[in-house]
Amino acid sequence: EMSYGPAPEADGEARAWLKRHESGFGHFIGGKFVQPAAGVHFDAMDPATGKKLGRVAQGDAADVDAAVVAARKAQGSWAKLPGHARARHLYALARAVQRHARLFAVIEALDNGKPVRETRDIDVPLVARHFYYHAGWAQLQATEFADQVPVGVVGQIIPWNFPLLMLAWKVAPALALGNTVVLKPAEFTPLTALLFAEIAAAAGLPAGVLNVVTGDGRTGAAIVGHAGVDKIAFTGSSEVGKLIRAETAGSGKSLTLELGGKSPFIVFDDADIDGAIEGVVDAIWFNQGQVCCAGSRLLVQEGIADKFHARLKRRMQNLRVGNPLDKAIDMGAIVAPVQLERIKALVATGVAEGAELFQPEIDLPTGGNFYPPTLLAHVQTAATVAREEIFGPVLVSMTFRTPDEAVMLANNTRYGLAASIWSETIGLALDIAPKLQAGVVWINATNLFDAAVGFGGYRESGYGREGGKEGAYEYLKPKAWAGRKARVAAELPEPQENV
Ligand code: NAD
Repeated sequence: EMSYGPAPEADGEARAWLKRHESGFGHFIGGKFVQPAAGVHFDAMDPATGKKLGRVAQGDAADVDAAVVAARKAQGSWAKLPGHARARHLYALARAVQRHARLFAVIEALDNGKPVRETRDIDVPLVARHFYYHAGWAQLQATEFADQVPVGVVGQIIPWNFPLLMLAWKVAPALALGNTVVLKPAEFTPLTALLFAEIAAAAGLPAGVLNVVTGDGRTGAAIVGHAGVDKIAFTGSSEVGKLIRAETAGSGKSLTLELGGKSPFIVFDDADIDGAIEGVVDAIWFNQGQVCCAGSRLLVQEGIADKFHARLKRRMQNLRVGNPLDKAIDMGAIVAPVQLERIKALVATGVAEGAELFQPEIDLPTGGNFYPPTLLAHVQTAATVAREEIFGPVLVSMTFRTPDEAVMLANNTRYGLAASIWSETIGLALDIAPKLQAGVVWINATNLFDAAVGFGGYRESGYGREGGKEGAYEYLKPKAWAGRKARVAAELPEPQENV
């Protein structure tokens, strides 16, 4: 018996879908579910209850090969479709996501542990928006990218923090511009990718255009190493990103990496304090802080630091941690026990290195991977928790005196994904913004995303952009690079030497 607490209406539908696949999900290859070659499955767990949600296939090299073969077979005719025809498919996917929005929202909340209020209001609508937006680029491909061709078969490896949204960021531009895909969701959160593949096929997406192979890092490594893959798009840890960069070097595969962050949240003494406090809540407690661009380093100007910390602690006392399917909660569960342990260990290190720990006295549900909203104040700049990405609901706080010092502290990181500036003096904010080495800088705001805006990082946060026209280019290559095969296919002469 599975009891999920206050159930939204779609809960019955979610249970029915899980029940239908009770005997074990296959991979989604060539337009249908295919059981893994080696017959190995693992459990998909509900982080909020520790209960099993389903059994998922562990992909090996044979499964990956079958998916690459299916993607290769589909790619030629997919790329030859006129842009408007591919656009029609993307519109159909967007509408299918909207039609099944509640089912997606509930499955995502169950599988990841994030509040259903977030999946319903943020993740799923953004997913639909990505497919609508990229339908536009498919439609405009012939005119806007006339001198470009698709990269080919793309291997996409995504993390567990925004499972369906990361799928959309990867799949929408790839398909829009004539590529076919072998996607591997994270092992903690494979369910919405499988649901998406099923729904995409029902919406008429041709077989082989989108293949989903589930499994852990070994499955990812098999995709990275497969000779039939033309490009790897990866979102995840900097550690694995470095491995993939080394592995693909010299292979001819294109590569984009979206990695970690330790983004600064800078509050000047003239900031609107109420706005900034709510900004902090969104920056570090949205999705339990498991956000690559989370505002995880609070830099607050010295004169208001005590007042700001006091206000923040009062606000933390009102945050509700609970069942992800309860629409009244602010924070759900951490994705997996191993992540929970990692967060606990880093917080212990922070305290051992001199930080002042604050956790509100609030009730945590039992039986799941729950962790309270946490503030580590008076952190030294050299401390482990000031440098390492915690990827949990833990804010570290430091103070600064002058704008120059704020810039110096903000840039004192090996990452560079995002930054947030809070000040009522717009001249000050606009002066500081370009000095911050970050892929995106928000002023008096945080966590603003749109399909039309390229997202990506500096330094160890990765390279390449997702979204916007710049993101579209990541799935194209200049015609001249298309090589002999394309020229033969197009009946063009070989290029002459020395011409
Ligand atoms: P992870 O790197 O462990 O896993 C990411 C994906 O890579 C998973 O699907 C995993 O199975 C796969 N993988 C693991 N080892 C692999 C290997 N050797 N070869 C190929 N694939 C492999 O990261 P995670 O713990 O799932 O995600 C958290 C990290 O992702 C954080 O560091 C976070 O900052 C980052 N992240 C970045 C962005 C961004 O856009 N920059 C977005 C979300 C998450």
